[in-house]
Amino acid sequence: MEGAAHRLTVRLTIVRHGESRMTTEGLRLMAVHAHPDDESSKGAATTARYAAEGVQVRVVSCTGGERGDILNEKMRDDPQIVRDIAQVRRDEMARAAAILGVSHTWLGFVDSGLPEGDPLPPLPEGCFGLEPVEVTAEALVRVIREFRPHVLTTYDENGGYPHPDHVMTHVVTMAAFRAAGDPAAYPHAGEPWQPLKVYYNAWSPERLVRLNDAMVRAGHEAPFADWLKNIDSRPRRTITTQVRCEDHFEARDDALRAHATQVDPDGSWFTVPMDVQRQEWPFEDYELAASLVPVDLPEDDLFGGLRALDDLDGVCRRAPRRDPSGELVLAYATTPPGAVDEEARSTRSQDADGDGRDDMRSEEGHTE
Ligand SMILES: [Zn+2]
Repeated sequence: MEGAAHRLTVRLTIVRHGESRMTTEGLRLMAVHAHPDDESSKGAATTARYAAEGVQVRVVSCTGGERGDILNEKMRDDPQIVRDIAQVRRDEMARAAAILGVSHTWLGFVDSGLPEGDPLPPLPEGCFGLEPVEVTAEALVRVIREFRPHVLTTYDENGGYPHPDHVMTHVVTMAAFRAAGDPAAYPHAGEPWQPLKVYYNAWSPERLVRLNDAMVRAGHEAPFADWLKNIDSRPRRTITTQVRCEDHFEARDDALRAHATQVDPDGSWFTVPMDVQRQEWPFEDYELAASLVPVDLPEDDLFGGLRALDDLDGVCRRAPRRDPSGELVLAYATTPPGAVDEEARSTRSQDADGDGRDDMRSEEGHTE
């Protein structure tokens, strides 16, 4: 414990004497996710690290995860859980947020479920995936204007993997990023506030290769062998940002385990020992999607380019520059994977086991 406390003190000192003219305590980060448990499998250690450093971190869950299967064998037949899965998942989410040290908001939409079959069945009426984007974006704009984040995180345009709620989470976050600082947009949803950067949670193929190789060298079975067979068919995203967060990997895993109905405690997520993870890949990876401020890439901080700004909050309160078509004038925008990758992607949807799902979902600790 003493060692951990010491490390934390040292790091806070570094933050205070680094780029910063404003204290870390004045910074705010908002992580937008589709379902309860996504916040614990994508960027969780990053949020725990920033929270520990005094950044205010807010996780937003777009849906309540009402249509998630119970993936933990040991809980599948528990009648109390089956009777009120929605409440169970709210309780799990509260525990996970406490473990990560973040605050949490439900956006209040209903889980679309993961459609299965050929052809795919239509999405259920009233679900998040079918809501008009003006409705869902207004809900997120309201939360942004209330919490006033400087930085947002979300998923890429493919949702990170093809679940309709994940794709919609991208659409809604990007629409809210464009609208939140516009006084003419959703005038009844609060005072305009322009977040300055938005990131996609990235998944690094190199990380899986490194972890897999390290496990094999240590004499274990290759944990990601199946997935690595398909590695070339996955779109290559641009990783711009690696956040060191190995001191918070345990919190990440504890938070994921708090979603007890959604996670198999003996599953592949937990197979790579902590010391191997810390040694081989002590980061979480991000793709900077858009920035209104100049950035210096690659970077190791989601607040890069922001800490040195005079009056950061004042910048976010001012209406951002827009081009004649009304689009934000960006200092940086990512380039989505090109046509070759699109082709590879359509191949990928016929994935190896033919179940129409991205095999990454189990590797990502992703559960619905
Ligand atoms: Zn999800």
